[in-house]
Amino acid sequence: MRKQQKPATTKGSADWFTGDVYVDAIATPQDGDQRMIVSRVRFTPGARTAWHAHGRGQTLHVTEGVALIGTRDGAVIRATPGETIYTPPGEEHWHGATPEDFMEHLAMLEDAEGSDAQDGWYEHVTDEDYTTANEE
Ligand code: MN
Repeated sequence: MRKQQKPATTKGSADWFTGDVYVDAIATPQDGDQRMIVSRVRFTPGARTAWHAHGRGQTLHVTEGVALIGTRDGAVIRATPGETIYTPPGEEHWHGATPEDFMEHLAMLEDAEGSDAQDGWYEHVTDEDYTTANEE
């Protein structure tokens, strides 16, 4: 066993996020065919991901604040600490903070690089769509 060195916190890329988002890598593949990726992601108020999908799905566990998670069909889930949201493989979605609150979640997924269904990143969530989501 070994205690891991904590990697530096990184700022989420403006290509993938709107607003200020900070990412801490907790687990990444290290041996053999491991695929588990776990990150702690902190969103400032109003910050959110762009539209995207995960080739092997994703589990989000909210640890602080209030989260909004939206899908292309217009469904929005509002989640608070202790709640867990699952998005299946290929489902296009976004996640972020509300305009009024910080939000922190653990993002858990399996690396889909090289598989038939890789992760995809698309356009940013517009202010209009984000505002509508927060009103639901
Ligand atoms: Mn996601």
